[in-house]
Amino acid sequence: MEINWKNKIKAVILDMDGVLWRVNEPIGNLPEIFEKMRSAGLKVLLATNNSTRTPEQYQDKLTQFGVSVSLEQIITAGMATSFLLEKRYPPNGKVYILGSDALKLTLQQAGFVYAEQDVFAVVVGLTRIINYEMFSRGALLINAGADFIGTNPDVALPAPEGLLPGTGALLAFIEAATGKKPLLAGKPYPTMMEMALKRLEVSPQEVLVIGDRLTTDIAFGQNAGCATGLVLSGVTTLSEAENWKPEIDLIDKDLESLLDQL
Ligand SMILES: [Mg+2]
Repeated sequence: MEINWKNKIKAVILDMDGVLWRVNEPIGNLPEIFEKMRSAGLKVLLATNNSTRTPEQYQDKLTQFGVSVSLEQIITAGMATSFLLEKRYPPNGKVYILGSDALKLTLQQAGFVYAEQDVFAVVVGLTRIINYEMFSRGALLINAGADFIGTNPDVALPAPEGLLPGTGALLAFIEAATGKKPLLAGKPYPTMMEMALKRLEVSPQEVLVIGDRLTTDIAFGQNAGCATGLVLSGVTTLSEAENWKPEIDLIDKDLESLLDQL
């Protein structure tokens, strides 16, 4: 990348967990960090692979940390999935959803209708409420010709008690049962990037993608030709970050220090 790439950056796409906070603990002085980005003229978009919360819930969480963002600035994996479905199926299309209430709400708001037969697609996102019968229905519908769609690929979910099974683990269950691979919407896949660039009204070369996970956040930016920044305040160590190929543009201990490099 040429030496003056930093001058081209007009927007940042930020991951949230591990970048802005750990569970309920903010990382750094968030109001000050957001004010710095605002005064630098940077457009800010928040993008998460979590499909279990609505944008309104993220907006509320940020408000509690003293940061005010508009709903337009938040994209979840559930919304990227909705964007993917809108491109493929007619309005009011029927879909079977194995996922959270937030995912169901997001797809319903986009006009899709939850159904248990004659569906265009089986949509799978993270949910803590799932049983054999629901998995079976999903598998049977896919075997009968419905598309298999997943919100995000993350196999593990960091939690205070350790790593819990993530969306990717639920997808693997159905993949094993059907022999089909899911089409995915969240990071690092292009659907979420397409949605983000549309919101930001910038080109990929004008974007810095910042996150704490290599295979989702960093690959997400690199796949699209964006600049990338890795913060060490989340799940990745410095040596893992330094060994990642292609090379990451910026690596720093946290978001505040990383933005100071711009
Ligand atoms: Mg993260």
